[in-house]
Amino acid sequence: MIQITRKEACCGCEACVQICPKACISLKEDEEGFWYPHVDVSKCVDCKLCEQVCPVLHQEEPTRPLHIYAAKNKNEEIRLNSSSGGIFTLLAEDVLRRGGVVFGARFNQEWKVVHAYAQREEELADFRGSKYVQSRIGDAYRSAEFFLKAGQEVMFVGAPCQIRGLKLYLRKDYSNLLAVDFVCHGVPSPKVWRTYLNEIIDREGDGKNSVLSHPVKSRQVERINFRSKSKGWKKYSFALTLSEATAEGDKNTVLLSSVNYENAYMKAFLDDLCLRPSCYHCPCKRFKSRSDLTLGDYWWIGNVDVSFDDDKGCSIVYANSDKGDMLLRKTEAEMFHTDSERDIKEAYLFEGAVSYSARKNKNRTAFFEGQGRISFEELAESLRRKKTKREWAVDWLKAGLKKAGVFKMVKDIYKSVKYYGR
Ligand SMILES: Cc1cc2nc3c(=O)[nH]c(=O)nc-3n(C[C@H](O)[C@H](O)[C@H](O)COP(=O)(O)OP(=O)(O)OC[C@H]3O[C@@H](n4cnc5c(N)ncnc54)[C@H](O)[C@@H]3O)c2cc1C
Ligand code: SF4
Ligand code: SF4
Ligand code: SF4
Repeated sequence: MIQITRKEACCGCEACVQICPKACISLKEDEEGFWYPHVDVSKCVDCKLCEQVCPVLHQEEPTRPLHIYAAKNKNEEIRLNSSSGGIFTLLAEDVLRRGGVVFGARFNQEWKVVHAYAQREEELADFRGSKYVQSRIGDAYRSAEFFLKAGQEVMFVGAPCQIRGLKLYLRKDYSNLLAVDFVCHGVPSPKVWRTYLNEIIDREGDGKNSVLSHPVKSRQVERINFRSKSKGWKKYSFALTLSEATAEGDKNTVLLSSVNYENAYMKAFLDDLCLRPSCYHCPCKRFKSRSDLTLGDYWWIGNVDVSFDDDKGCSIVYANSDKGDMLLRKTEAEMFHTDSERDIKEAYLFEGAVSYSARKNKNRTAFFEGQGRISFEELAESLRRKKTKREWAVDWLKAGLKKAGVFKMVKDIYKSVKYYGR
């Protein structure tokens, strides 16, 4: 039976919970707010199924994608409401039009992140956008299996470890499954998210968490967006909108909108202060999840093709299987191949999260211990990773070289050498 002796050896994918034929595994939240499986040994029949589906115990070999694309949704409104290029929605719409089902992560009524499914296009809006909190899988694998066995097309989106958990749970390949994951920096604790949300509502709202705990009150949280593009895709913001019932109808007001590097929650996330222990030892880097497609932000698209970069969002899409490649090409995405050896190298070089786990912040323990003692803002700010003098110097040098056009010059020389050397 599954036994968690080291926290980093469990990514919380819930595959063991769902496979257990005796339903004797339950999830319990630890002091940091992450869920871990607990076995009721009195009911366990030692069938070992839970061990067989565990992504940490059964890791694949690293592999390389078949193709890499730069891609954008032509619908600008949808793209602006998505985290990157809005490719999730394009794929999902196609699946729904063919009568399929789409699984992904959305907020529930209490603003916790949970996995659920959509069968109608209007439902996709709730799934759009990255939520930087670990999502609760619940019975999503079992429901997906139900639809797959009934012959329906299923698109399942999740973190790489959730996709690996799904695949191990299913124990066979389904031609009607499209498994999509994303380049994954890691997931923060749901408890830390609750603490932060309560704090900003108390501070900025009308006090006593009323907008959260009484959804029927006149003011309530209308929308939370971790990746608002109001100031641009690259300068994305965390935004929280309230809606208020007035005599003239519902009125929306932005309660908080702060650029990622100024927002306390995003600082804690990006500085690796509150990630799940497994995220510092991720079992799924380098496409080990065996998803069909991997989505990410093509942050450096301007280096590849400056005309494609309008700062409204561009996805990098790694096609890992022929099926994924074919379904991506069928969409109406505006896209082009970026498959040369150089592009592949750049894709690894610029997006470290493809290949490497996040580096644990040495102040992580202090961050969790400090929860509730001082304000979230102060805690996140005081424990951030500070740049060393050497890092400041390297960044300064890089910025100078970029400004002087040295990178572009080297790139042009490389291109011409390659062209004439054919
Ligand atoms: C926790 C997290 C970390 C990420 N880290 C990176 C990174 O380091 N580098 C990078 O390039 N990209 C990262 N991404 C991916 C990126 O933010 C976009 O989600 C991705 O590029 C898809 O964008 P889109 O515009 O096509 O779709 P979007 O409309 O943004 O769709 C997002 C999809 O992700 C799913 N999703 C959202 N939140 C979660 C969650 N918490 N758990 C599981 N599924 C979720 C939704 O269901 C939806 O299907 C991360 C995403 C998440 C959720
Ligand atoms: S060994 Fe079998 S019965 Fe026991 S916890 Fe694991 S799956 Fe359940
Ligand atoms: S990684 Fe998933 S399958 Fe393995 S023990 Fe944790 S929750 Fe269970
Ligand atoms: S970093 Fe790895 S372990 Fe953490 S959520 Fe992402 S895929 Fe799972």
